[in-house]
Amino acid sequence: MSPSQCERCGEYYDDDLNAEFEWCKPCLINNSNDIVFEWIPYNQFYNIIEVAKGDSSKVNSAICKNGPLSYSYLKKKLTRVSGKKVALKYLLNIQNNTNKFLNEAKTYSVNCSNNILKIYGISQNPHTKDYIMVLHNKYFEKYCKICCSTRIEHNWCNSCNINLIRKKFINCNSGNKEIDDYIRETQLNINNPYNIVFEWIPYDQFGNINEIGKDNTYAVYSAIWKDGPLYYEYMAGWAREPNKKVILKCLQNAINEFFLNEVKTYSINYDDDNLIYGISQNPSTRVYVMIIQDKYHEKCVKNGKIDNFIQEMRANNKPDNINFEFISYNQFNDITYIAEGGFSKVYSAIWKDGPLY
Ligand SMILES: [Zn+2]
Ligand SMILES: [Zn+2]
Ligand SMILES: [Zn+2]
Repeated sequence: MSPSQCERCGEYYDDDLNAEFEWCKPCLINNSNDIVFEWIPYNQFYNIIEVAKGDSSKVNSAICKNGPLSYSYLKKKLTRVSGKKVALKYLLNIQNNTNKFLNEAKTYSVNCSNNILKIYGISQNPHTKDYIMVLHNKYFEKYCKICCSTRIEHNWCNSCNINLIRKKFINCNSGNKEIDDYIRETQLNINNPYNIVFEWIPYDQFGNINEIGKDNTYAVYSAIWKDGPLYYEYMAGWAREPNKKVILKCLQNAINEFFLNEVKTYSINYDDDNLIYGISQNPSTRVYVMIIQDKYHEKCVKNGKIDNFIQEMRANNKPDNINFEFISYNQFNDITYIAEGGFSKVYSAIWKDGPLY
C-alpha cells in the first residue's frame, strides 16, 4: 500500500479503499461543493464580448483559457475544462463598495446540485480595477437581458416589460379621457406574460367586417384584425399574431360610462374565457367598439368535425336568427350529442347559459 497525496488538502493517505479517488476520504466526505471557488487572473480571459448592460450591472461573455476548477464526478477528481465559456459580471456605480460586490457573489452557488446559477470565482479588470464575478455561461437563462440584474422566471422581467410597454405600446388616441386613462391603467397593471396588452386599435386595422347580429342594445361583427394582438414570446419578447379573427361589439347609443362598464366585464388574462384585446372607434359613426375574442371559433378550429357542423348550422340559419357561433364550447355538456342532435334540440336542452340576446 503506497500513500497518495490528496489533490485537495495535500495530506498523504492510504489509498487502499478508494484507489480511484485522488482526494483523501475526509475531503471527499466534507467537501459538499462541486466548484473550487478561486481567484481567476484576468489574463485567463479572451474573446471578451459585451452581452448586455443595465443601470446597475454589465455582463460580458468570455472564454476562460484554463477553465474553472470543479469536481468531475466522471473522473472523480478536480478538473479544469479548458476553453470554457463564462459570463463576467460587473456591478456598476458601486464606488468600490466591496461588500456590495461580495454580497451579490454569495447569491450564486458553488454547488451543482441546486438550480442556482454557478459561480466559479472572482477576478479583477487590471485597467479599471473593477471586480468581476465569473459565472456560468447561461446567465441570461436566469437573469433579465435588459436590466442585467433581475432574476426571471419564464424570461419575464416585470419592471423591464412595464418600461417597454410604456415606451412602445401605450397608444391612447380615443379622444376620450376616461377611455385613454383606462387603457393606460390597464397596460401598466400588466404583471405577467399571460396578460393581453389592452390597446387602442385604429379602426382601419379591421378588414372583412361582417355583421353577425344586431338589436337595440348591441351590434356585433366579425372581423380580421390585420396586425393582431400582442403576446409575449419567451424567446423573442413581444410579438403580434397577425390576421386574427376577432369580434367587434358595440353598444348602440350608449354613453361612455356604460361602454366602459361593459369593457370591464371582459378579461385581459389569457387563462380566462372572455378575452378583450382593446377598444376602437368607427370613424364614420363615432361609436366605440370593443375588440373581443372570437372564442367559439378559436376552439372549434381545433376540431374539424365540430367546425363543419357549425358551418352547416350557420348556412341553415336565417338572418336575424340567433347566431350559432355565439354558443361557446364550454357551454355544452356533450359535444357528440350536439353533433347528432338538431339545432333546436341543442338550443333548448343543452345551452346552459341561454341566448345572448
Ligand atoms: Zn484531503
Ligand atoms: Zn429586467
Ligand atoms: Zn369556426
